Amino acid sequence: MLPSIFLSHGSPTLPFDDVPAREFLRGLGAKLERPKAILVASAHWETRAPALNAVTRNETIHDFYGFPKPLYELRYEAPGAPALAERAASLLTGANLNAHIDSERGLDHGAWVPLMLMYPGADIPVLQLSVQSHAGAAHHIALGRALAPLRAEGVLILGSGGFVHNLRLIDWNSGPEPEWSRAFAAWTHEKLLARDEAALADYRRRAPFAEQAHPTEEHFMPLFVAYGAGGKNVERLHTSTTFGSLRMDAYGFGD
Ligand code: ZN
Repeated sequence: MLPSIFLSHGSPTLPFDDVPAREFLRGLGAKLERPKAILVASAHWETRAPALNAVTRNETIHDFYGFPKPLYELRYEAPGAPALAERAASLLTGANLNAHIDSERGLDHGAWVPLMLMYPGADIPVLQLSVQSHAGAAHHIALGRALAPLRAEGVLILGSGGFVHNLRLIDWNSGPEPEWSRAFAAWTHEKLLARDEAALADYRRRAPFAEQAHPTEEHFMPLFVAYGAGGKNVERLHTSTTFGSLRMDAYGFGD
């Protein structure tokens, strides 16, 4: 059975950046059993209630501004998974998490940047799940838990966000990682390995420097979807930082 995975997608320029996180993602697809489809909970799709996209082919959404032109020319037009979107919506509804279907939206860069590195062929069907950052961590654990049966059906559940993500405090000169980032990451790592769900769900109050690490919560919520969807074996798959505090850590939740 496939693990669920949380990964940090970093800057939209990641496909062009020679950094360890890019090499990690390039190797990750080959390490996994080939999925029949991929469901991505992305930080870059926020809605009031959970939504799933159901299209025949995904358009590439360039949802960022002021980056170099070659980035806007990248395309990742993977097939969609409309039947799987219906199945996922029914699993969520069965868990009292009413979901709606979006029949137009393609893939935002939270999905296509890592997928382009993991599965460059763009030949595996992909659908996205939106996040509801106003609803907090426990809600996203519940979303993941409701979708967990899909793993047994060959679906790779990916949470794509950022382990530490504060764009106002990133260091464009890529200096050393600041202490607040290190402390937040160490606390989260420890609680993940201990599978301390009560602490994780309450990270906003309990984790050191939570406000600095995530001034808004949308980049952290995909971690909880992956946690909820996954098995009991928690494994850190990758750790690195870019731009000082933009942490690129990834975790697998297998059986
Ligand atoms: Zn992002």
